[in-house]
This record gives sequence, structure tokens and C-alpha cells, in this order.
Amino acid sequence: MNDSLLQMNTFFPNELMAIESIKQDNCTVHIKLRSRTHSCKCPECGYETTNYHGTYLRKVQDLPILGKTTRLSITAHEYICNNDACSKTTFVEDFDGFLSYYGRMTERCADFICTLAMETSCEGCARICRAMNLQISGDSVIRLLTKQYRVQPVVECGNIVGVDDFAFKKRHTYGTIIVDQSTHKPVAILDGRDGNSLKEWLKNNKHIKAVTRDRASAYSSAIQEVLPDAMQIADRFHLHQNLLEAIKNTVNAVLPVDIKIPKDYDMQKTNEKSVDGKKNALRCG
Ligand SMILES: [Zn+2]
Repeated sequence: MNDSLLQMNTFFPNELMAIESIKQDNCTVHIKLRSRTHSCKCPECGYETTNYHGTYLRKVQDLPILGKTTRLSITAHEYICNNDACSKTTFVEDFDGFLSYYGRMTERCADFICTLAMETSCEGCARICRAMNLQISGDSVIRLLTKQYRVQPVVECGNIVGVDDFAFKKRHTYGTIIVDQSTHKPVAILDGRDGNSLKEWLKNNKHIKAVTRDRASAYSSAIQEVLPDAMQIADRFHLHQNLLEAIKNTVNAVLPVDIKIPKDYDMQKTNEKSVDGKKNALRCG
């Protein structure tokens, strides 16, 4: 074996699958793999079964190789669930940590897209991915992100959290994000922003002592209902936002629509008096 050559099989879980062939064209690397497993856990009931049923060809995308789209064709095994109480009869195996039961891309590929989306935006992430020849649309990034967070195990969080709304799709679909204030990392993404999903989340996190939030009533009443002893704190961002809005409304209400400049107003004199160097010919208030 030549040590100077890249060993492709080291990039795949050898104990679960073996590479059969690798081909490439101008834009794509095609890798054929075959399952080596002899047993699998049922996705429904968790029973381990060795009852082999047949094969199933899974076509999935992996991380690009040197800028080329990477397509995997995996001959996976189908198994029969032996548990009489289980509603599943047959199922296609997953490859733990590499490919989930229904995944259309490898888990490392999905993890990369989700990390990039969290650092940029769903549309921005899709554009960067396509530039790398990783084929995904902005809508698919949203679906992937939502699915990833839905199946995430419950994350332990401290007793101070921040709550805010965000748009999955502006003016259409909104969600609620919960951030652990001690780590500044998101711990949950919930559907909707009407407070109902927050209430359900708080019921499972009754150790929360303080919540920073915006000044809308939906979150306030949800927190008050589930955790009446928790301290509610209006966060700085929203206080600034509300203050600026109030100043703008006040200025709009106080100032007349037209401000007349007196005929004898001495523009030259005003410019000379200006201390900040700006030509504030007419100062309001
Ligand atoms: Zn089962």
C-alpha cells in the first residue's frame, strides 16, 4: 500500500460499509459502497434484529471532494423487526453517526450546513454551499435546520435564559429561540412566537430563575403563567429599540410638518457659532 496516496476508505466507517468503486466526471465524484452490517436496531421500537430482508439502494450526498459534488450510492440492508408489538415490519438500516434512517445526505454534510447556516443565514448558506458544489436550496437549509433541532436531545441549560422571536421566512413563518445566557449558545428553537411553545418548554425547565425578553406580551404572560417566581428582564436591545421608537414618535408629534425659516435668519452667523463643525443651519427644539 502506497502511503503517499490518499486512502478513501479511511473517510468512511469501515466497519459498516466498504467502497466498491469510485468514478468521477467534470463536476461529480460518484462513490459506490456496500453495507457490511449483520444486524440493526429497529427505528420504531429499538429492538436489535439480525433478520435480513433484502437490499435497498440509498443515494445520498456527501461533503464535496476538492470542489466536486460527491454522490454516494450505498447498497444498504433491509431488516425485519422481530418485535410482535411493533408496527414496523421491514426497515432500511441506518449507519449510526454517518447516515440516519431517512437522511438524504451524510450527517457530517448536514452538520456542516447547519453550522454554516447558524453563522450566516439560510439563503447565504445555500449560496456558499452551491459555490462549493454542495447542492442545496435555501428552503432545504431551513427544513434541515428545523429537523436537526427537532431531533436534538434536550440540552441542559443554566437558570438564566434569553427568549426572542426570529423569522424562518419573513412575514410568513416565525419561531422562538432560547439562548442560555451563561454560554450565549442556543438551547432550543421552537415553532411560533405566540408563547404557547415557550410555555411547553418552560414546563420542562422549571429550574429557570430569570428570563430576558422583548417587551411584547406573549412571552411575558407565558413566563408569568408557568414560572410566576421567575424574574423577567427587558433586554437591552429591545429597551434601546423601544426608546428610539418613543423618541421618534415624540419628535414627530411635537415638530410641525413645516418649519419656516425667518427671512432675517443669519445663516453665516449660525455656521460660525457651530461648535461641532457641522453646518447645522437650523437646530430643532
Ligand atoms: Zn420494531
